[in-house]
Amino acid sequence: MTVRLRAHHLLCMLTFVGEGYTSAFTDNYRRIAERLSKGEEIKLVSGPDDICAPLLNGEEAHCFKISVIERDAAALADISVLLGEEIGIGAMLVPDARLLAKLRRNFASGEIRHACLGCEWGDLCSRIADGNFSGVLIKAS
Ligand code: SF4
Repeated sequence: MTVRLRAHHLLCMLTFVGEGYTSAFTDNYRRIAERLSKGEEIKLVSGPDDICAPLLNGEEAHCFKISVIERDAAALADISVLLGEEIGIGAMLVPDARLLAKLRRNFASGEIRHACLGCEWGDLCSRIADGNFSGVLIKAS
């Protein structure tokens, strides 16, 4: 099995502490966090992903909005530069300790946070990064 993630969720997963839009959303996200923490591979997808799934029943799921698609593009560009290789849709990533540490280090410094511009969760994610990612639920085992 693989966890299907859209690009900007490669950032959001770094600061997930159990908060989210609805209880269905956070319950699902917690299950995904467990899988990622066990090292299950990530498959990069375009558009709504496994984290978005519980939000897709609403008439105006924000997951389809252009602004969110632009967030994906910004994250993809930042992460490609960071990893030194072009990461595209369909790419597979292993969420091991090395990758998570590298992403978190550069998230905390702000280098890979262009996708976060205007996000309603921005302050929370900044506080979590400032707190050395204490309490996050996705950690390599
Ligand atoms: S600020 Fe928003 S886009 Fe950035 S990591 Fe947090 S939730 Fe994701």
